[in-house]
Amino acid sequence: MSMDQTPCVIWQGALAANGYPVAGKTYMHRASLALKLRRSVRHGFDACHTCDVRSCVNPDHLYEGTRSQNMADCTARGRHNKPAGEAHWGAKVSADDVREMRRLSNLGWTRKALGEKYDINPATVSRIVRNIWRTEVSA
Ligand SMILES: [Zn+2]
Repeated sequence: MSMDQTPCVIWQGALAANGYPVAGKTYMHRASLALKLRRSVRHGFDACHTCDVRSCVNPDHLYEGTRSQNMADCTARGRHNKPAGEAHWGAKVSADDVREMRRLSNLGWTRKALGEKYDINPATVSRIVRNIWRTEVSA
């Protein structure tokens, strides 16, 4: 019987900008795997999902894998073909918000202030205002 037969347990708390479940600074899928392993996930290893649902914290869907394994799995499952922009899992802000955020940033708003206004973390604001993320939105 496949381990994948239990349903995903979707984390109801916050998600990091990369889509993984977080509580404070702790990645909850890693914490869930560590509980199953009864030790921490080894340095240089990732908590990988067999179900390919980043926000899933079901320990049955998690295994300790190397980063390259994780990348290989991603590629194999086509995670790199996710839609961009608002359809993307990471999109919490609309295209209009992105434009407004870039405008306000040019006016001198700090990333922290923008993060509070739009309820996203300052690192995400930073990526948006530096045009590293949400690049599909033009001015
Ligand atoms: Zn799952």
